[in-house]
Amino acid sequence: MAVARTLHGARILLASQPLEALGREITTRWPAHRGIDIADATVAALHGERLRAAIGAETVLTFPAGEGAKTREHWAALTDRLLALGCGRDTVLVALGGGVTGDLAGFVAATYLRGVPFVQCPTSLLAMIDAAIGGKCGVDTPAGKNLVGAIHHPGIVWIDPTFLDTLPLAARREGLAEAIKHAVIADATYLEWLLAQIPTLVAPAPIPRAIADTLVDRSVAIKCEVVAADEREANRRQVLNFGHTIGHAIEQVSAFTIAHGEAVAIGMVVEAQLAVRLGLAAADVPNRIVAVLRAAGLPVAIPPSMDRTALVAATRQDKKARAGAVRYALPMAIGAMAGAERGYGIPVEEAAVLQTLTEM
Ligand code: NAD
Repeated sequence: MAVARTLHGARILLASQPLEALGREITTRWPAHRGIDIADATVAALHGERLRAAIGAETVLTFPAGEGAKTREHWAALTDRLLALGCGRDTVLVALGGGVTGDLAGFVAATYLRGVPFVQCPTSLLAMIDAAIGGKCGVDTPAGKNLVGAIHHPGIVWIDPTFLDTLPLAARREGLAEAIKHAVIADATYLEWLLAQIPTLVAPAPIPRAIADTLVDRSVAIKCEVVAADEREANRRQVLNFGHTIGHAIEQVSAFTIAHGEAVAIGMVVEAQLAVRLGLAAADVPNRIVAVLRAAGLPVAIPPSMDRTALVAATRQDKKARAGAVRYALPMAIGAMAGAERGYGIPVEEAAVLQTLTEM
């Protein structure tokens, strides 16, 4: 069992042993504890009992699968279940699942009795390489996604890529969009590796373990490096928003019929084009990103019928907007982001955004 990394007190482990080893990790960190697992119904049915038995947890609390359950109502319901069980400050919550579970269970852990320890056991690719790392947790509200939340670092992040064997291929592709983002913001060699491995990564078969390990390890390393540099997103963490300003706008304008990973894929292409338009990036940068996204079966263009003006309007609601100007995280090359001197947030005129969207 190699300790992959430590980030804000979290031991981030790339598992090479069965789940029982996680039980030992938990007991070592919290010798007298009461373990409670939280999972969505889908993941609970697939893996819940195996995890519960392996780590000796008392029970698995469940909620419906999907983004629709990342709400204050489900936060309250889970909290009430813990209260009904009489859980005290010795409770350790274990989030087993994708990013929705990690965000929701993390927020329960952040607020229950003013904060109890928790463990992230991510089961989707997106959660393994992104959502489980960095301590952000929270819920959505009718006014928007992730608007109520906290920073609450897990004590342990247990990344076992064998969970990916049951993950639907569409969800795997969505996770790959974030891996491609990591490569673009920080590591050109990683992008080349991804391009070479894409046929294996999107094949309808389990990802060979060595390849899954490299994928997870490279992406986790990049996310850790960025988060460690700036925990609260004032500066370096901005680079993680690459593709997301336009991506969030696409999700919103499509009324969330376009999945997050697909929206981010298109968002990366638009924002790379924007970087070229602003003279920040060389002309070939968007094409290199498009090549990897296409190979992964991810979309690279905005649906023709989508209203470009509505997209620009939707970017204003993004939390990256400050003092009227929407700020973008833009690449200057594959592996390097522009605007270090401006906190990696580059204000862009709406006219330039609209023109880029219209030309695509
Ligand atoms: P998700 O948690 O809804 O999981 C996607 C689907 O896959 C769900 O239906 C789930 O039941 C299923 N699933 C997960 N693992 C599985 C497995 N091993 N086998 C079979 N099915 C499995 O969504 P997600 O894509 O993992 O995460 C998206 C969420 O993450 C969003 O809410 C987003 O806001 C959040 N997020 C948070 C951060 C952060 O820093 N906290 C970062 C990125 C994304």
